[in-house]
Amino acid sequence: MKRVIILGCTGSIGTTALKAIRTKHLDLSVVGLSAHANESQLVALAREFSVKAVCLTGSVLESLPNIQTYSYFSGLKQMLHSLEADIVLNAIAGFEGLQASLEALSCGFDLALANKESIVCAGSYLFDVAKENDCRIIPVDSEHSALAELLKGHERNQVQSLVLTASGGPFRTLDASQFSTITVDQALAHPTWNMGKKISIDSATMANKALEVIEASYLFGFDADRIEVVIHPQSIVHSMIRTFDGAVYAQLGTPDMTLPIINALGEGGTSLVRPLDFSSLSLTFEKPDFKRFPLLALSFEILNRKGSSALAFNAADEIAVHAFLQRKISYLKLIEVVQRTLQQRWDEEVASFSQILALDEKARQLARSLV
Ligand code: NDP
Ligand code: MG
Repeated sequence: MKRVIILGCTGSIGTTALKAIRTKHLDLSVVGLSAHANESQLVALAREFSVKAVCLTGSVLESLPNIQTYSYFSGLKQMLHSLEADIVLNAIAGFEGLQASLEALSCGFDLALANKESIVCAGSYLFDVAKENDCRIIPVDSEHSALAELLKGHERNQVQSLVLTASGGPFRTLDASQFSTITVDQALAHPTWNMGKKISIDSATMANKALEVIEASYLFGFDADRIEVVIHPQSIVHSMIRTFDGAVYAQLGTPDMTLPIINALGEGGTSLVRPLDFSSLSLTFEKPDFKRFPLLALSFEILNRKGSSALAFNAADEIAVHAFLQRKISYLKLIEVVQRTLQQRWDEEVASFSQILALDEKARQLARSLV
């Protein structure tokens, strides 16, 4: 049985993973769990899955009978180093997930990675750490999971471009003149996916797709001019690849993160997802509107600029989304904060974790001053 550690187990991805494992159809046993603030749910899950160790990264966790407890991020590091495991599912939300990814890799664990911020912020440095430790990074993001599956069937030199699908979010059809009236509740109401708050707001601004364009480039080694985004409101086609002979290959399925999660955990053959009913399907595709969703356009510029722009984009977006969720700034101001942070030059290439931390803090300070 494969031993898995789930970081961020109380969130949307974490609970979907645990729900799948609860069915007992997967050859997986959970040995460690982490959450940040939700102590009661963490403790309940630790007991239910009889894990060896748990960590609460946001505060002190009291001791538990028969389960080793750890606190704060230093505790998470200790927990990862003390456990024997085969794979870590990193479902932590935000930049903090990067340090967890690096620790998991340094312990020699394969990484099922939902935390796209790890890839966006560390870029090739993350993959170098994985290589040094002989570990695999397997994407959990549905689009990248689909792309990884599709690329298995093709030589790299046959593939012209990666085509990421995007639902378009709740404001896909909203006229730009209405953007100034957008509320937090409207932005949180995603039409097809049920997710954590940060990624839901990112889907409304299309910053999520921007992060995913960058994620795809680093994961699969494709430059900006070989990555396309197509709006597909039904979220049934999870992504596509275009080959030079003119063919397009797609992965289809119900919008349910269970499949990409269990694929990343190496249990993809198991049927836990509702089969697709073709009789009720009506699939549509549209060109993305880069004018109404400028953060998406920015991701292609970022890839062309190289340096540490991607890291700055992530930091500014985290600050701006947080301020928007706290109702301190409007939807349009959120966009402006990210754009203005990226007006500064971010030329430094990322080569170490301490440098990543320093650049992230610099971008956050700038974004905060713009809020
Ligand atoms: P949620 O907000 O639902 O859950 C986040 C999890 O991380 C919770 O367990 C939370 O603990 C923990 N956490 C929050 N802050 C910290 C911190 N500072 N340090 C350590 N742990 C922390 O997020 P999602 O599940 O939606 O997303 C998780 C990741 O997966 C993100 O990177 C997201 O972009 C990515 N992703 C999500 C998808 C989805 O469908 N939801 C799809 C594709 C990718 P607590 O509950 O105790 O606060
Ligand atoms: Mg996605």
